[in-house]
Amino acid sequence: MDEEEYELVVEAAIVHNEIEVRDLPIGFHSEAVATQLGNFISQFSDYDMRVDMGSCRNFMSIRVSGDVRKPLKRWKKLRRSGQEWFLVKFRYECLTTFCFLCGCLGNSEQFCHILFSGDVSSVQRGWGYWLKTAMRQPSLAGDKWL
Ligand SMILES: [Zn+2]
Repeated sequence: MDEEEYELVVEAAIVHNEIEVRDLPIGFHSEAVATQLGNFISQFSDYDMRVDMGSCRNFMSIRVSGDVRKPLKRWKKLRRSGQEWFLVKFRYECLTTFCFLCGCLGNSEQFCHILFSGDVSSVQRGWGYWLKTAMRQPSLAGDKWL
C-alpha cells in the first residue's frame, strides 16, 4: 500500500502578547525580573507595574513578542538565593486559538501533531482556557443598554 507523507509547514509568525504575572512576591517587581521573565516566555519588549490599592497587591504585566510555533509558557519557578522556590504563573491577554495538547498558537487540538505521532494513550491536555486573563462576562441580555 502506498503511503503518502504529509509535511505540515508552519511559517514563523511573530505575535505580540501581554502577559500578567501572578503570585509574584513583593521585592520581585523590578525591571530586571520583568526582563528575565519576558525573555523566558519569548522576547521581552516592555513591562508595566501597578499597585491595586483595594487589595494592596502588586501586579506586573510584561509585553513580549514571540514565535507562534513555540509552546506557551505557563509558569516559572523562582527563588531568592538561599530561600524556598516559588511559582509565578502567566496569564495571557487576547489569546487566539491555541492547542491544549502542545500549547502552540494557531491550531486547535484536533489537528495537533502529537495526535499523529504514535501513542496517543498518554496524551494529556497541559494547556487550557485558564491561561487567558479573566475576560468580562458577556451580557446574557445581549445588549447591555436595553
Ligand atoms: Zn498541538
